[in-house]
Amino acid sequence: MKLLIHILDLPLKIPFTISRGSFSVQKTVIVELHQAGHIGYGEATQHAYYQHSQESIVTSLEKVRPFLESCHLESPEELWQELSHHSKGDTFALSALDQATHDLAGKIAQRSVYEQHGLAWQNIPASSVTLSISSIPQMIEQLSLYQNWPVIKIKLGTGNDLEIVKVLRDHTNAVFRVDANCAWTVSQTIQMSERFNELGVEFIEQPLPAHSPVKDHETVFRESALPIIADESCVLEEDVVHCSRHFHGINIKLCKCGGLTPAFRMLKKAKELSLLTMAGCMIESNVAISAAAQLLPLLDYADLDGDVLLAENPATGVELKEGHFSPSKEFGCGTRLTEQIA
Ligand SMILES: [Mg+2]
Repeated sequence: MKLLIHILDLPLKIPFTISRGSFSVQKTVIVELHQAGHIGYGEATQHAYYQHSQESIVTSLEKVRPFLESCHLESPEELWQELSHHSKGDTFALSALDQATHDLAGKIAQRSVYEQHGLAWQNIPASSVTLSISSIPQMIEQLSLYQNWPVIKIKLGTGNDLEIVKVLRDHTNAVFRVDANCAWTVSQTIQMSERFNELGVEFIEQPLPAHSPVKDHETVFRESALPIIADESCVLEEDVVHCSRHFHGINIKLCKCGGLTPAFRMLKKAKELSLLTMAGCMIESNVAISAAAQLLPLLDYADLDGDVLLAENPATGVELKEGHFSPSKEFGCGTRLTEQIA
């Protein structure tokens, strides 16, 4: 295989703010893997919380390059094991490469990745679209952009979380999900869960910091009026079993776990443990979104709106419009870079 690396800065439609900070340009790395006249694509974005920069991702990719370019792709799953060893714990770089090997293997076999995994495009959940933290008038304005979306995810972790949800509820009948990104305490979470239950909130994503004492997670798990979904607490494959003791469900992201290979295994394990299943994303282009969309037939909840929040998308693939996905006509993950990038 031959590896090509694109380093891109993607402007957002509006600045994106969560409980930990704000940004208006997403720095991303898109990889291409070439073999037998086909191209597979993958992507990983910079992320401060997980301590991966554009530079660190590219450095990891360059370390893997000699091994990768000596390989002939047969099975993405078998190659993942080797790539995991060569990328030395950089799950972001590993995820980009694993997306690309899945995309490439599917394009060579002329099947989509979900078909390669014995799945059909059926029972596909709607995706939420995310409102980032802002003033209440600005959050109402954000909401007005998404009038026909059936599910709205609200980023919280402010001093007036309850007021935000109450006011937004006056403007829509959409299902709400809330994500505190680790910003709440135990008592706050339990109180909020009761109020939010009355306001049409479906679940709470990661209320407590991931490193909170186990007893705190247990108290919230036991006393919350709403399901609690692990995001920052569910990073790697081995976290699934641990989370099954303190959470109702898990939010898988390809860059956290290292790509589609571990993500498919995590979803299988989660279902065995009767956990609710969700896949999320970073703000990223259609390359990474189309890869994560291959997991859709296995999900209870989807939060794959990353490219909806971008001013321009450098790729085409699985489409998300007003919460509903359309599969790509291309094989593999279904993605392709637009001409000016390629
Ligand atoms: Mg989250």
